[in-house]
Amino acid sequence: MTEELFREDATLAECEATVTLVDDTGARLDRTVFYPTGGGQAGDAGVLRLPDGRELAIADTRKGHDGRGIVHVPAPGQQALLDALQAGQRVVARIDWQRRHRHMRFHTATHLLCALVPHPVDGCSITAGYARLDFHMTEPLDKDALSAGLARLVAEAHPVRQRWISDAELDANPQLVRSMSVQPPRGSGRVRLLEIEGVDLQPCGGTHVANTAEIGPVIVTKVEKKSASTRRVVLGIAD
Ligand SMILES: [Zn+2]
Repeated sequence: MTEELFREDATLAECEATVTLVDDTGARLDRTVFYPTGGGQAGDAGVLRLPDGRELAIADTRKGHDGRGIVHVPAPGQQALLDALQAGQRVVARIDWQRRHRHMRFHTATHLLCALVPHPVDGCSITAGYARLDFHMTEPLDKDALSAGLARLVAEAHPVRQRWISDAELDANPQLVRSMSVQPPRGSGRVRLLEIEGVDLQPCGGTHVANTAEIGPVIVTKVEKKSASTRRVVLGIAD
């Protein structure tokens, strides 16, 4: 297994770690700051720095298909460096912070959008270039009104916090689950709640900024009717 340092502290850009497994899919470590694709949020990119100073470029991060650990997926052309990695080696794992911070800004903005659009979410995608949320609803949505609502919640500078509750507490409060497509990660006996003070509270395992002010100038770039019962909202960062 991999210790998931990003769960407790999303602001960590690098860590030291020990290589536990190298195979065709990539490299696994005993601990990492790399977030694996999940909950709609894209996986991190970055580098693994070897003891001799060489850097293995990582293009993506995924959960292992065998359910064990987090796989750091090399960029194309990195095979020689991947071959140089061995279990037991110490490396420094460093994410592309600019890219991740955009994920965090967009991800936190999607929570604000959930507060503005009180309908179930049935799809979500968060990248460095845009974020989109699909709402299960039939009413039209006003793009400019949503942008204004986001700007207000960003300007109000609400603190963003996380806390853990037990599976039993979550079962007793089913209204906490806003998303129909992304079920909270269960099984470990506890679930992480993400709270934007006074705005939104829901289970979420992604990475977020610490205050809504940190989201900056995020706007709604598109609202579309994806199906009779789905409205898609696309977010971008204003120049
Ligand atoms: Zn979240």
